[in-house]
Amino acid sequence: MRLTRYFLPVLKETPSEAQIVSHRLMLRAGMIKQSSAGIYSWLPLGFKVLKNIENIVHEEQVRAGHIPLLMPTLQSADLWRESGRYDDYGEEMLRIQDRHGRDMLYGPTNEELITDIFRSHVSSYKDLPLTLYHIQWKFRDERRPRFGVMRGREFLMKDGYNFDLTKEDALHAYNRHLVSYLRTYERMGLQAIPMRADGGPIGGDYTHEFLVLAETGESEVFYDSAVTDLSFGDRDIDYDDVAQCQSVLEEFTTKYARTDETHDEALFNEVPEDRRKVARGIEVGQIFYFGTKYSDALGAKVQGPDGKPTAVHMGSHGVGVSRLLGAIIEASHDDKGIIWPEGVTPFHVGIVNLKQGDAEADAACESLYGQIEAMGLEALYDDRNERAGGKFATMDLIGLPLRITVGPRGLKNGVVELTSRRSGESEELTPDAALAKIAGIYAR
Ligand code: ATP
Ligand code: MG
Repeated sequence: MRLTRYFLPVLKETPSEAQIVSHRLMLRAGMIKQSSAGIYSWLPLGFKVLKNIENIVHEEQVRAGHIPLLMPTLQSADLWRESGRYDDYGEEMLRIQDRHGRDMLYGPTNEELITDIFRSHVSSYKDLPLTLYHIQWKFRDERRPRFGVMRGREFLMKDGYNFDLTKEDALHAYNRHLVSYLRTYERMGLQAIPMRADGGPIGGDYTHEFLVLAETGESEVFYDSAVTDLSFGDRDIDYDDVAQCQSVLEEFTTKYARTDETHDEALFNEVPEDRRKVARGIEVGQIFYFGTKYSDALGAKVQGPDGKPTAVHMGSHGVGVSRLLGAIIEASHDDKGIIWPEGVTPFHVGIVNLKQGDAEADAACESLYGQIEAMGLEALYDDRNERAGGKFATMDLIGLPLRITVGPRGLKNGVVELTSRRSGESEELTPDAALAKIAGIYAR
């Protein structure tokens, strides 16, 4: 993309309404624009990162054997009356009437809809196990929408639902989700720690929230610092292997890590003192096994192996797709701007032409631009007629991991400069060597 043809409305001033750094940087980098409280338009740069995050979530869900579909944002109130949640959900639910006076709502979540799809089409245990998911906009009329996309009213969520014959099978689905989420967040350059959370009215031990440690996080968390040494890495996982998924769950959830809702001071005190940490975290996902709650309420039964109707065991599993942009920026920025992890960056490389209009510099930039695109990567070429300082400031703000700087002086010696946004280090390389280096970085 050539910057002169793009739409990147960066702001010079720091917007005063933004209280935390990720919100400020998203506004300044021209990624989002608020349309009303907690509701945002996604401008091209923000939209690109949102799509990248969404793609990673999709890829990892499909890898785990989960099946994508798409349910609507607007739902009929009838199903929610059946489950008993229409009245329980309270003021967070946006209620709407259509022209015929029928009660509708903008879905805050989809347990009812998915259970209805299931009961309409699945009747035998032979069709199980089944995990369906979608990535769709949700609406929750939050009391205090704030921090930009972090706590919006309209937000993008991946929500998945497993249907299993037995509790044991459903717990394997739970473990599969935990494993796939570990991979998902690491691909985004994030460490998200599974922490034991509150099962709410249903109770039980089967819910974990995934938290990204950050001072601006809304949750108070307590953990053994040894959990921060764990990483999933590049392991081979067979998602059908029950024992393997169970052992990953144990590896990542045995050490003490809890949100304040489930915090147990006595247990915490058993952790060696120098490893006991109290901090704040951003919830970027949650997994939940809830047994037959919805299948009982909505009559989702299958014929079991014994021929008898059996309520299916379910769980629901959410990833905060739009919140993740804020979480990633909270975890990865400096005083000049965003530093995108390679896995989610909106463009792979920025090209800065120090002397726009200089025939040699222009030609070198065009050539690099063409070759980067030919490598299957995306470049953002700053071809504006602007001072170098302004171009660097824009590149630093929008946080592309790599920048190539091209100027007449370097070209005389046959070199361009390749700069890492994260380390700030630059090297002078021939254009070919710079391209080879970029290819190597993104091949990883
Ligand atoms: P919270 O406790 O932060 O209100 P929640 O526990 O109600 O979230 P879930 O129902 O577990 O949320 O939804 C799954 C994920 O969706 C959460 O882990 C979070 O990342 C994201 N999410 C929830 N509410 C919002 C919101 N208002 N804005 C953006 N993302 C959200
Ligand atoms: Mg939650």
